[in-house]
Amino acid sequence: MSGTSPLIVIGAGASGLMAALWAAHSGREVIVLEGTVDGGRKILISGGGRCNILPAEVALGRFVTGSSPHALRNILKSWPLAEQVRFFEGDLSLKLVAEAASGKLFPARMRAREVRDALVNEARRRGAQVRFSARVADLVREGAAWRVRLNDGDTLNASAVVLATGGRSVPTTGSDGWGFEVLARMGHTIRPTYPALVPLTAAPPRHGHLAGLSLEVVLTAEGAGGHRSERGGFLFTHKGYSGPAVLNVSHVAAKPRGEGEPRGRILVNWACRSAAEWDEDLRRGSGTVESAVARLVPARLAKTLCEEAGVPEGARLPELRREDRRRVVGLLTRYALPWTGTEGYAKAEVTGGGVDLGDVDPRTMESRTCPGLFICGEALDAFGPIGGHNFQWAWATGRAAGLGAARGKGQRPGSRA
Ligand SMILES: Cc1cc2nc3c(=O)[nH]c(=O)nc-3n(C[C@H](O)[C@H](O)[C@H](O)COP(=O)(O)OP(=O)(O)OC[C@H]3O[C@@H](n4cnc5c(N)ncnc54)[C@H](O)[C@@H]3O)c2cc1C
Repeated sequence: MSGTSPLIVIGAGASGLMAALWAAHSGREVIVLEGTVDGGRKILISGGGRCNILPAEVALGRFVTGSSPHALRNILKSWPLAEQVRFFEGDLSLKLVAEAASGKLFPARMRAREVRDALVNEARRRGAQVRFSARVADLVREGAAWRVRLNDGDTLNASAVVLATGGRSVPTTGSDGWGFEVLARMGHTIRPTYPALVPLTAAPPRHGHLAGLSLEVVLTAEGAGGHRSERGGFLFTHKGYSGPAVLNVSHVAAKPRGEGEPRGRILVNWACRSAAEWDEDLRRGSGTVESAVARLVPARLAKTLCEEAGVPEGARLPELRREDRRRVVGLLTRYALPWTGTEGYAKAEVTGGGVDLGDVDPRTMESRTCPGLFICGEALDAFGPIGGHNFQWAWATGRAAGLGAARGKGQRPGSRA
């Protein structure tokens, strides 16, 4: 390793800025190369512009990876949530507030820009040089060092590189999967990527007339991504279905299956109620079927479900035959959502798949294949549910990579650099 070359961080998103800031804190010369004009674009659009910076509680069991869950847990535990909160409130002077209903933490002034700017400013204050409009075209290993070539032809030497180029989601933010190509070429295992935390589509849009309607539901999804049950917000859109519960199970159904295999399925319980409770209500009631359903389900949806069950308009409960009642109860509690696809990477909050966690040292994020290369953030094969968990991952892996890279190749935490 050359002692004179700087440490280069590629990507000034959430994980790269965190890596740069901690690497610079260790006294290393750090240069951050960011392709966009200002970096941190996903931070800016996160949480609807408010930046859901962290969750109020850790949810290790809700993270998704095709790699070792044990490695994932160890990585997340390396920077505990309470310490992350202390870092933002202390080092960055960003007071955080919890949204009681959702268990999400936000900056008190609800401005994502403050989070992005605080990270850039702190990285610079600690000595890192942050260069915007500096898109990296290629990364080549030269002996024990690295050569980084920029799009404009400029080249830089580096003693260590942190690759923080994100995944493929929302490529307009600058993250277009470039890192995967480079890492694959260097011999890393890239688990097949797919859009995750993504709205679902229905073609034709059977429920387009309900667009804008939202309610709380229980979703049960089964597919190539396993099995998941989720209670939360559901939103009808013009193209299909969205809302927190849909986003959180989307990967289960949408993860690609083998050729010719059927799609995953999603069952909806519209009022978070058991079939027995509905059956009892419909058996004993005296008004119309639609009004009984509409007591616990929005009226427009109640009408649609009754139509789909073939219940004649104005039909009264006492007239409902047993098999019709069963059909209505089935649609209310185990409704097979007619989704046909997803809105893809353009709308996915994260990328599923990525660099196998077994390819990095979980303490330093150093590549086991290429010593001197450190990998963090969404490029790795892990994502969490919505609610701040993905930034928690970006902050934890970014810090570990920054500290690991500053220590140098093969140095374990606690050993002397
Ligand atoms: C709409 C939306 C809302 C979200 N809201 C939340 C939320 O509220 N809470 C939460 O926890 N998570 C949220 N997320 C997820 C979160 O934003 C990501 O998990 C996180 O940003 C990943 O960080 P990263 O550093 O790995 O990648 P990114 O933030 O994507 O950063 C990668 C950076 O690398 C740069 N780059 C890529 N290639 C090159 C190259 N060749 N040369 C130079 N630079 C390069 C990119 O320009 C980019 O700046 C949201 C995501 C989206 C899309």
